Amino acid sequence: YYELKIVPVTLEQNNERYIIILHDVTQERVLENVRKEFISNVSHELRTPLTSIHGYAEALLDDSLEDKELIKRFLTIIESEAARMTRLINDLLDLEKLESGNTQFVFEKINFTEILEHVRNIIEPLAKDYKVEVEFVYPDNIELIGDKDRLTQMVLNLVDNAVKYTSLKEKGKKKVTVEAYKENDNIKLIIKDTGVGIPEKAQKKLFERFYRVDKARSRKMGGTGLGLSIVKTIVEKHNGVIEFSSKEGVGTKFIVTLPTGGNTNETV
Ligand code: ADP
Repeated sequence: YYELKIVPVTLEQNNERYIIILHDVTQERVLENVRKEFISNVSHELRTPLTSIHGYAEALLDDSLEDKELIKRFLTIIESEAARMTRLINDLLDLEKLESGNTQFVFEKINFTEILEHVRNIIEPLAKDYKVEVEFVYPDNIELIGDKDRLTQMVLNLVDNAVKYTSLKEKGKKKVTVEAYKENDNIKLIIKDTGVGIPEKAQKKLFERFYRVDKARSRKMGGTGLGLSIVKTIVEKHNGVIEFSSKEGVGTKFIVTLPTGGNTNETV
């Protein structure tokens, strides 16, 4: 994008000349568009649960509503929509802090196995509810320099997605495998599922904020569309790399590579 300015310069009478100034404003425009899109996304995401809370609250205020079961159902919806708004705001604040560098990462020597055990304890009951089999494969002891809480959040987000998007598959095997091992100076974390998969045209947008392959489906699963953006930021702050491959209807595999030496970049 260019901004064009034409400035007349009169040198002598009847001899008018012009200077044309071209100013490259591409970056400003791009930033402005990102900002606008972000605000519109956030507003939309907040408005959806609010509309529903509003509607059900109004119905509850109607004196003619006496069915106890129905009242309870409406209150449950209000409660879960409010919880979703809280999750969204927490995710947004998290992402903002991570991206602006306002999150203090505590890099210390940690045992990655403990992180996996912790995630396993949280995920196993959830997977049971969703009727998805989960298998964890990792050695007793893999150490690295990293931020324990953030890495736990990263693994949990990926495994949680794998379980949820596998449970949505209508038929066939429903299995998630979480595998970790040390390879040279890296830790490899592989999360493989046999879920709904990600269509090819959606793949390049996957890590974008609020991007969801199927908005209604993600909402139904309680998603905010921010999980993978948070995951990517955490991996990158550890000087790591995240990749994935996926086939619609077959499954998805995420591979995270983390250097065991941590992030040696002092600006983090
Ligand atoms: P959400 O809160 O919607 O799960 P994420 O940022 O975690 O948001 O993921 C973005 C989108 O990527 C999801 O809405 C979903 O469409 C897709 N996705 C993520 N993980 C998987 C997976 N394991 N299998 C299939 N689709 C996935």
